[in-house]
Amino acid sequence: MPIWNPRAETMARAELEQLQLERLQAIGNRIWESVPFYRRRFEGLGLMPEHVRSLDDLRLLPFTVKEDLRTGYPYDLFAVPLREVVRIHGSSGTTGRPTVVGYTKNDLRHWRELVARVLSAGGMTKDDVVQIAFSYGLLTDAFGLHQGAEEIGASVIPVSAGRPEEQIGIMEDFRTTALVGTPSHALQIAEMLEKRGVARSRLHLRWGILGAEPWSEATRRKIESLLGISATDNYGISEVMGPGVSGECENRKRGLHINEDHFLCEVVDPESGEVLPPGETGELVITTLTKEALPIIRYRTGDLTALDPEPCGCGRTLVRMARISGRTDDMFVVGGVKVLPSQIEEVISGVEGLEPRYVVVVDRQDGADTVEVQVEVPGALLTGDVRHLLSTQELVRQRLEAALGLGVEVKLVEPRTIAPSEGRTQKIIDRRTSEGSDF
Ligand SMILES: [Zn+2]
Repeated sequence: MPIWNPRAETMARAELEQLQLERLQAIGNRIWESVPFYRRRFEGLGLMPEHVRSLDDLRLLPFTVKEDLRTGYPYDLFAVPLREVVRIHGSSGTTGRPTVVGYTKNDLRHWRELVARVLSAGGMTKDDVVQIAFSYGLLTDAFGLHQGAEEIGASVIPVSAGRPEEQIGIMEDFRTTALVGTPSHALQIAEMLEKRGVARSRLHLRWGILGAEPWSEATRRKIESLLGISATDNYGISEVMGPGVSGECENRKRGLHINEDHFLCEVVDPESGEVLPPGETGELVITTLTKEALPIIRYRTGDLTALDPEPCGCGRTLVRMARISGRTDDMFVVGGVKVLPSQIEEVISGVEGLEPRYVVVVDRQDGADTVEVQVEVPGALLTGDVRHLLSTQELVRQRLEAALGLGVEVKLVEPRTIAPSEGRTQKIIDRRTSEGSDF
């Protein structure tokens, strides 16, 4: 795959770190001068911008959390006057006020460049016809990816999110070669294609550049085989810019290259806030190094990942982050072992004939934590050979124990026992925290 900006993406580590330090110091000075919120924070900790003398000194600086952006709603954290802001985006605000992000002309220029890098790493070139299947609006995904694709010189179709039938119609007629959207939307499109019996040869699709939500390798395989494409993951959050923070190269099992000349990333223990060594899973924390309108220091993303500094065969020297394995809110600890719903999902999806529909019941018996995973099985399996049913149950148990590193009970349950759900509340039932659960 082509490297969009070889100068920046293959820079020697020492040179990159020097650039990061210079930019970190400049951002520190800028927020001290221009953002009263940060000035108060720094003063409360007895910190001055000149205390940042090395990249390690980053950990002296305070975290920024989503609540800070809400409190500063809409413009209190901006570092430039509104007359210098040329674009305003926001989060959806489903859990309260939206968070607002602003961009100067330079911010937009950087954004286009960084998204172009991510799209190139995923295979896109100026010869592609790109279908943007994100909603155009306050959110950053559609506009961010749209501009990056234009920067590359591809032909961009701003379809927006829509029904799978509409997307397929456009794909056929416009000879789309790259689909840009969420993995769940891509999966819906792929399944609709299969249902309607549309031959893959009628489509010209080659690439899926998918992101904005966590997805499993099993989902990736399904999308790739049904659509006949190469699907890569990319990551970004609106608070620090939007898409363009990181993306997979051709060695995609190894993670997403972070655009480190613009974002300084750490992984911290979600509980203690301590910085974790490479390879350990924790919460991603991002410091923007070049943002002018809304610079952010050590932003707690709530997304779980791990960093991998090993050199990559593609030639990029930028560190990689593992694909997002969940939210900090979804992680639970059993007998000292951290467990993520995505690990359980990956195991169940890998077993022939099972869909990842499950509930985890965590309990405590005689002072020891217990884990029971209830998995829905298709009716045919339940009414069929009992030995097959039992061997499936045993297979799931063994694989879960190997993946999680702890003892697990598995119970197969009838179809539609488990309500379709997103998120922790229905997938994880933690009886340890309810009253009297110890008895
Ligand atoms: Zn690579």
